[in-house]
Amino acid sequence: RSQFTLSVQVFPYGDQQKLLLSQDITQLERTESMRRDFVANVSHEIKTPLTVLGGFVETMRDMPLDETQRLRVLDMMQTQSDRMRHLVDDLLVLARLEGDPYPPTEMVIDMPSMMTQYQNEAQALSGGRHQIKMEARTDLWVRGSPQELHSALSNLVSNAVRYTPDGGAISLAWDAVLIDGQPRYAEFSVSDTGIGIAAEHIPRLTERFYRVDRGRSRESGGTGLGLAIAKHVLVRHQAELLVHSTPGKGSRFVVRFPAARLAPAGTPSAGRAA
Ligand code: ADP
Repeated sequence: RSQFTLSVQVFPYGDQQKLLLSQDITQLERTESMRRDFVANVSHEIKTPLTVLGGFVETMRDMPLDETQRLRVLDMMQTQSDRMRHLVDDLLVLARLEGDPYPPTEMVIDMPSMMTQYQNEAQALSGGRHQIKMEARTDLWVRGSPQELHSALSNLVSNAVRYTPDGGAISLAWDAVLIDGQPRYAEFSVSDTGIGIAAEHIPRLTERFYRVDRGRSRESGGTGLGLAIAKHVLVRHQAELLVHSTPGKGSRFVVRFPAARLAPAGTPSAGRAA
């Protein structure tokens, strides 16, 4: 009888142990399979431009080309090598962010000025093919790493240009929500009238190399890492990324900064003269 009591007490404990262990193994397996997928993806992403480059080298070696053709092939080779460099740059940024045990530097960033910079960047990327508007409705500034936040926010801006057909419109906004005169949060948003994203893709957009349309992303110079980088940066800044989109109509990406990340306009960065 006492044995029976003992076994009743032991079993749930044993089960719990087993459960914990199997969770550990599942987690390990998942991490390992993610690592394998990542290595396979990186290899594939690097191999594609390398294969194309190899083809161009063969063409230059084996075919008689006139000067115009030679320059065209060299231009195409340049595009492939730029693509590879861009990919390696993004991989390095991601690796640095993932391995960084420290919180981001705390500079105070003049957001309304940054917005003007993003508008100029969008205009340069668009080459006049889109209408680009910008509105800073609050003069609040943001505490954080200027470099990291620039890589996250400017990626949202360049995506809006890249995924919006010619003639479309892109609006950048900086807005705050106040409660009793105090900022509750502030939002940086990028809205476009582009191709949009179907609902089932939205939860996966920040996965490394996840793209709705691989061909389109590559053609427009994408690496598939921009939103993965953005997610890391935003998590490090306790900011949220919200995505609203309607296929065929357009998308709106919103970065919501909590009150703790906001500072009144003109606040000096710590360590700098006031
Ligand atoms: P990529 O380099 O492919 O643009 P990102 O990580 O920046 O990589 O974005 C992932 C995917 O999300 C893109 O390939 C694209 O399918 C989709 N996407 C991102 N921004 C937009 C947008 N503004 N409109 C439509 N699709 C978008």
